[in-house]
Amino acid sequence: MILDCAIIGGGPAGLTAGLYTTRGGLENVTMFEKGMPGGQIMNSSEIENYPGVVGEITGMDLMTPWPEQCQKFGLKHEMVNIVRITKEGDIFTIHKEGGETAQAHSVIIGTGSSPRRAGFAGEDEFFGKGVSTCATCDGFFYKGKEVAVVGGGDTALEEALYLAKICSKVYLIHRRDTFRSAPNTVARIKRTENIELVLNSSPEEVYGDNMGVTGIKVKNKDGEIRDITVPGVFTFVGNDVNNQTLIQEDGSFLCDMNEQGQVIVDISMTTSVAGLYATGDMRIAAPKQVVSAAGDGAVAALQVISYVDELLN
Ligand code: FAD
Ligand code: NAP
Repeated sequence: MILDCAIIGGGPAGLTAGLYTTRGGLENVTMFEKGMPGGQIMNSSEIENYPGVVGEITGMDLMTPWPEQCQKFGLKHEMVNIVRITKEGDIFTIHKEGGETAQAHSVIIGTGSSPRRAGFAGEDEFFGKGVSTCATCDGFFYKGKEVAVVGGGDTALEEALYLAKICSKVYLIHRRDTFRSAPNTVARIKRTENIELVLNSSPEEVYGDNMGVTGIKVKNKDGEIRDITVPGVFTFVGNDVNNQTLIQEDGSFLCDMNEQGQVIVDISMTTSVAGLYATGDMRIAAPKQVVSAAGDGAVAALQVISYVDELLN
């Protein structure tokens, strides 16, 4: 059987594409997601800017009902890592990890982005042993203890606020003295008593012993080194686009990309390849928001419905 549409990735973009394609009349739609559906927002301790959802809600609580809503309209879900998408003639082949394949008339890709490593000494060695990129997952291990957060964007500041409620003190280490974050969030950071700002400072090294991290050394812009004794270091230094499935055997990309590895799309999420649509965080000029990723999924789905109809009729 050839699928009407294969959706790659089950974050807000992929799930919304699943809802709109199936509810819009496509019968054979499968969403391929390598983990639990919901996407990266599942790791967020708090989201307060999803329209219509008033008050504090965790990413997991926001996303939990989404798959059930899609399944009601017939979306199928397969938990598998997709390694490559290829196209021959009008047919796409979805290459699954393990060697199996699926075929589809159209593809909506929404594989999102993943946390970047900051690149300081000890980061890889102590990853999972005191170095983390997920406050919701690991914050509780440091209840009543001091921790460090590295980064100056929305994620670092929001997660520092979350950690400040659990931990006795949070050192917020940022390489500049201004933040890349919403003014409201910066204001909350500044009035939180147990957050100490360590500005104009970059991590030099995370160190520890066989039990895990015991501290982090940071260097300020005057070259002075400060040693901060903490058992936990959380890094939130941005994300890299997950575009691996678009890489072909010869190393080229299936569709046109920009220099940052983001998929080039027009306002209808159409890529340079007919029948292939890219959505959410992985596309050019993405606002990197749950609401915009969901919007992209809806836009792409409506395109797919017309594309498949024209192709098959
Ligand atoms: P993602 O959410 O990244 O989902 C992509 C999915 O694809 C993942 O589930 C992944 O497992 C899957 N996948 C990837 N590769 C493969 C593969 N090869 N095979 C199969 N499946 C694959 N936005 C807001 O609007 N408000 C907020 O308050 C907010 N807070 C945030 C807090 C944190 C800590 C983080 C990390 C992000 C936050 N964001 C927030 C941003 C928001 O989460 C993203 O913009 C949004 O999730 C992007 O959705 P997406 O569907 O494009 O991708
Ligand atoms: P980001 O906005 O790219 O910020 C990354 C931060 O890490 C920057 O402050 C950057 O410093 C710093 N940094 C980068 N590399 C570093 C390194 N090697 N060492 C030390 N510091 C380093 O990433 P993000 O905060 O994860 O946000 C990603 C996107 O998701 C953004 O568009 C954001 O708005 C969105 N988001 C939105 C919300 C929300 O709406 N509430 C919440 C979370 C995320 P410089 O500032 O000096 O570059």
